[in-house]
Amino acid sequence: MDEKDKENPIDDLQKQLEKMFQGKNVSVGVSPFFGPGMRNPKSGADATQEKQNQKAKDEAILKKIRQFNLKPKEIADYLDRFVIGQSVAKKVLSVAICDHYNHVRKCIEDASLSKEEYHKQNILLLGPTGVGKTYLMRNIAKLIGVPFVKADATKFSETGYVGSDVEDLVRDLVKVANGNVELAQYGIIYIDEIDKIAGSGKEGGKDVSGRGVQINLLKIMEDTEVSPFSPTDIMAQMQAMMGGGSKDKGNISTKNILFIVSGAFDKLGEAVNKRLNVTQIGFDAKLENTEDAISKALQKVETRDFIDYGFEPEFVGRLPVRVSCDPLSVEDLAKIMTTSEGSILRQYHRDFDGFDIDFKMSAEAIMEVAKRAHNQKTGARGILTVLERLFRDFKYELPSTGIKEFEVDVDTLQNPQDALGKLLDENLHLMAEVHRQDVERFAQHFKNEFDLDLSFSDSAIAQLVKESEQAEKTIRSLCEDKFKDAQHGLKIVSRNTDQRRFEIDKDFIENPDGRISKWVVDSFEQKKEQTEEPEMSDSESSDPV
Ligand code: ADP
Repeated sequence: MDEKDKENPIDDLQKQLEKMFQGKNVSVGVSPFFGPGMRNPKSGADATQEKQNQKAKDEAILKKIRQFNLKPKEIADYLDRFVIGQSVAKKVLSVAICDHYNHVRKCIEDASLSKEEYHKQNILLLGPTGVGKTYLMRNIAKLIGVPFVKADATKFSETGYVGSDVEDLVRDLVKVANGNVELAQYGIIYIDEIDKIAGSGKEGGKDVSGRGVQINLLKIMEDTEVSPFSPTDIMAQMQAMMGGGSKDKGNISTKNILFIVSGAFDKLGEAVNKRLNVTQIGFDAKLENTEDAISKALQKVETRDFIDYGFEPEFVGRLPVRVSCDPLSVEDLAKIMTTSEGSILRQYHRDFDGFDIDFKMSAEAIMEVAKRAHNQKTGARGILTVLERLFRDFKYELPSTGIKEFEVDVDTLQNPQDALGKLLDENLHLMAEVHRQDVERFAQHFKNEFDLDLSFSDSAIAQLVKESEQAEKTIRSLCEDKFKDAQHGLKIVSRNTDQRRFEIDKDFIENPDGRISKWVVDSFEQKKEQTEEPEMSDSESSDPV
């Protein structure tokens, strides 16, 4: 029996446990640390090769980390390719990242250094949604090659039994690092919506359990060891007891893991705005809490503001690098579309390119999209919403037409339906060729599947087009329908007569079963004639001259 076919006792046990704990908040998943070969869906040469490739890749990244030599300006340059604006954040983050990974490198070079006191450069990112906070960090992680994990602070609970356990984040890093603990220990953990777990402070926080979560986070942000086995993962615990986890994979140290926490902090911004205004112009002044005013206030936020807001002083103390990201202007949004390497507009270009379709968007249309996106107040995410609405029907309709390019102007944006209708009408003449190609694609598919050639006449194609319009079906699905069982009859004909190519005309399309039955009957007759022929010739030859 093949190794992979053997009944795996662990799988069996897992199934039983899953049944037992159904409906409870207890995970019985298999830990990424589980020993090799015990539960690997791939086996044999493929799995070994894959493992070797992964190992080589991990080794290359680890080498890069051990020899970390980037400079802040180089990191900022790299970020400029993707992230528009946020110059202050880019500067602060680049410096913090260099300091962190230089320290990591030095500790690897000289282990005694790791015992010296060092304040980790954990980062607090403030600013509205969709302005690039996560995007900055994701790109930094990509540049360095370290695993990156993101979660919302609101999903954690104090105990970890009702919600998630903050230590799961560390275990998730190991999963993202494909089980490579060493690599995971240099990873980045990003926790969003941190402002929602402020305790019941003066200014905004209301969540009392938030305090407990902050304390739990505080622990992992410092130098601590996290077990690879989740306390709520019964299966993993059992594997640990049974020695299933491989021996060289012990606890995960959080010493070199970089933590980024982020949040919109608009209430905090309002509070700081108030403090600043009170000291500057007196109590009676009317406060303007515009997006810009809040953003400016957040740049001046101090430790005591966070504590007043409901954060534990120790928690804020572990976040020495604080930087506020700016709201994005209409011009920023337009620039994101045209110049960012990760621009969503580029993705639309790639999507259409998948069908060999190209489109051009006028500068006015780009500005109009940017304006509409700006009105949504969701930062660059608004671009996605506006473009999705604009292109939705184009993406559905155009691949089934012969259209290979189109233009998007302000009129297209005002009324995408009308613009699409007009485009389709103007290109109706291309449809004959599209239909022919659709039929050819089906014939190719039929040949690949059954090794039989179908040759469609013009009248057959015209009939298919007519029926597809009547039935509102694609030519492809109509063909699938008409040739559903055709291969059986055609194979009999082929066996009887050696014929492999079949001419499909209008009559066939109107009555495929009738035609195939006739072909089958004819083929038997033809076969009979052929088998009788030699006897005839024998008797003929024996005729007396
Ligand atoms: P948040 O600030 O809420 O973390 P994200 O960083 O997740 O927002 O942004 C969502 C998406 O919007 C990103 O994946 C990216 O495509 C785009 N985006 C946001 N801000 C920028 C920016 N400043 N430059 C380029 N793209 C951006």
